[in-house]
Amino acid sequence: MLDMPNRPALPPEIARRRTFAIISHPDAGKTTLTEKFLLFGGAIQMAGQVRAKGEARRTRSDFMKMEQERGISVSASAMSFEYGQYRFNLVDTPGHSDFSEDTYRTLTAVDAAIMVIDGAKGVESQTRKLFEVCRLRDLPILTFCNKMDRDSRDTFEIIDEIQESLAIDVAPASWPIGMGREFVGAYDLIHDRLEIMDRADRNRVAESVKIDGLDDPRLADHIPPGLLAKFREEIEMARELLPAFDRQAFLEGHLTPIWFGSAINSFGVKELMDGMGEFGPPPQPQTAAERQIAPEETPVTGFVFKVQANMDPKHRDRVAFVRLASGHFQRGMKLLHVRSKKPMAVSNPVLFLAADRELAEEAWAGDIIGIPNHGQLRIGDALTEGEALRFTGIPSFAPELLQSVRAGDPMKAKHLEKALMQFAEEGAAKVFKPMIGSGFIVGVVGALQFEVLASRIELEYGLPVRFEGSQFTSARWVQGPKAEMDRFANINKQHIATDHDGDMVFLTRLQWDIDRVQRDFPDLRLTATKEMM
Ligand code: GDP
Repeated sequence: MLDMPNRPALPPEIARRRTFAIISHPDAGKTTLTEKFLLFGGAIQMAGQVRAKGEARRTRSDFMKMEQERGISVSASAMSFEYGQYRFNLVDTPGHSDFSEDTYRTLTAVDAAIMVIDGAKGVESQTRKLFEVCRLRDLPILTFCNKMDRDSRDTFEIIDEIQESLAIDVAPASWPIGMGREFVGAYDLIHDRLEIMDRADRNRVAESVKIDGLDDPRLADHIPPGLLAKFREEIEMARELLPAFDRQAFLEGHLTPIWFGSAINSFGVKELMDGMGEFGPPPQPQTAAERQIAPEETPVTGFVFKVQANMDPKHRDRVAFVRLASGHFQRGMKLLHVRSKKPMAVSNPVLFLAADRELAEEAWAGDIIGIPNHGQLRIGDALTEGEALRFTGIPSFAPELLQSVRAGDPMKAKHLEKALMQFAEEGAAKVFKPMIGSGFIVGVVGALQFEVLASRIELEYGLPVRFEGSQFTSARWVQGPKAEMDRFANINKQHIATDHDGDMVFLTRLQWDIDRVQRDFPDLRLTATKEMM
């Protein structure tokens, strides 16, 4: 992730785009922050409109309800809005840890991430996991330390924890003054400004006071003497001990700037947004098996990173979320669907603007568009103006939990198959059809997914189903010379299945079995991930 000096300048429409995700541990304030982004981006009129989502996640049954009331969560999958000279595309990552695979794929569609941490809790487990995924892709990360209006940890302690536990340099972009009830605001170290929090109106942006450096006597007009002395001391220490902001190190993923604020009080949010605009990366080149795709290339290319089926249960539609990798897309364009080698007229693409979706008349590299379709578009698929590209890096993980599934009514087995295939293509589960016997084995990463699936199959297809324990606990994709795969399958019939793409899978209970196969069939490869394309 570099600003390569020998790359041509991006067209202004592309250069102003910032496509990013927010990662955090549940409760740190992601929903609140998202809402304030939309508010300051003019996409919603008042806070509270996306509230339903954050609260819906609280309990398991609420979560299922949210899944059913898909309208809310879906329109929030990708949100586009203008902010000053910038166009922001905020891609939502599913909050629940059971959907980590979905999250992983979402992160293949963004160029940067904002990491939100709770000032009292620091780096929590889910933050750490998501951070590791970002690191795999060297994504630049901006950090927002939230809830400074509450009793928080000492500023140095928070920074130390991030540096130590995530092994990344932290450069303060702002410095908090006081905390909890004494929280005054923060000093913007990049622009030498004092930002004062307005406690009276939560949706008002902080008052900003221009300051001529830290010796400016005007500081005393706004900060009580005790806090001011402490603040001056801390800043001196920070300048000595902590790295200064370095854009290149940030773009390479080695350093994260940190802002301190309070999302609920709208404090520090604008500074963070300004930081994303000013320092965040414009759309980056994307990797295909054949070559790198630069955003400024004229032909339009893009890849599907998420498919959401039955967004509107009355209409059985499916929306494929496409990240545009290059070019200037216009509505009505005919694109090549590389996997099927068929042309596809994209006549009703949608853009997601907060709570609404809107026809996308045009879009540029970096944007996320939704393409309604009847199942042709799958995760990993490429769309181009003719070139046979295969985008890489969108993985499918072997499920960690397997169960067999049956329709309550045996006569409905065919319907069940159709429903399962649809969810498999959507990426909501892995579906394996065993070589022997009837029925299906469904694989997921987190147990909650079984419940969500059962409820969606019933709701969307009118099919009550039963999930039951399976004798298998792991699945591995099998690859190798055809003759060797056939020989292997013949000897291990009870363990062989095919996934929804027809690829061979070895189902087993024991790691020992997997090791044995590798020993007995050295020409075969058993893998726990498969690239979706
Ligand atoms: P999410 O789970 O990360 O999406 O977190 P939410 O945005 O739903 O916030 C979790 C809880 O923290 C909610 O009750 C919010 O009202 C509260 N919250 C969010 N930001 C702040 C903040 O700046 N200060 C305080 N005191 N509470 C906050």
